[in-house]
Amino acid sequence: MPDEKSKVLLRARNIAKIYTDSAVPVEVLRGLDLDLKAKEVVGIFGASGSGKSTLLHILGGLDAPTEGKVVFEGVDIRSLGSDELAGFRNRKVGFVFQFYHLLSEFTAVENVMLPALIAGMPHQQAKDLACQALEEMGLMDRQNHRPAILSGGEQQRVALARAAVLKPPVILADEPTGNLDAKSGERVWSYLLNLNRRHGVAIIVVTHNRDLMLELPNAYELRDKRLHLIKELA
Ligand code: ADP
Ligand code: MG
Repeated sequence: MPDEKSKVLLRARNIAKIYTDSAVPVEVLRGLDLDLKAKEVVGIFGASGSGKSTLLHILGGLDAPTEGKVVFEGVDIRSLGSDELAGFRNRKVGFVFQFYHLLSEFTAVENVMLPALIAGMPHQQAKDLACQALEEMGLMDRQNHRPAILSGGEQQRVALARAAVLKPPVILADEPTGNLDAKSGERVWSYLLNLNRRHGVAIIVVTHNRDLMLELPNAYELRDKRLHLIKELA
């Protein structure tokens, strides 16, 4: 029996993506494979336009590949109906985006509660969980503030709390420090990696920052439509 740590959480096989919504089809991914084990952290580096966001969207069920399959905890996500797919995105995957994507009319705690409320959790329980998640991000005193009055780094930590509030098996982070100055970027980066250390959340993080990425045990470059291993330790 493979132990918990070596269990494959997410397996992508022979992924291709061709955008056909313009006059000339754009092939972004071709023959791409990726295995993510439970509790693992994987970094993906790639030039702008190389297909990093496309790949994360496919892995998280936000977009469908043109070819190939994504198997999550043994289930091919193509086999999910639309409600099941919505449930999968809600409970199994936390997303973090470069530009935070917080809802501006909602306070920090309300933003963080959303995944829990969508999952059907009672209001008070959702609020308690959200407060805990914000506390872990060092943001307890900001819970009633709206995004507009928070700094970029604080907004991204709210987004991290939102992604982590249901303790999903994986967080997919798309250039989470890309819009931040070096100092707040490093802070967000360490909070992100702490989620892995504390809760065993697996992480796929896309970054432009090669230095940050090289701290990770598993790092790939997305180039020529597929992933190339940069290094693998232990
Ligand atoms: P990255 O995140 O690495 O910058 P993206 O995945 O956003 O790259 O985009 C990869 C390529 O696919 C780019 O050339 C982009 O212009 C193209 N692309 C992305 N989305 C679409 C779309 N909906 N229709 C057509 N082309 C797209
Ligand atoms: Mg992108």
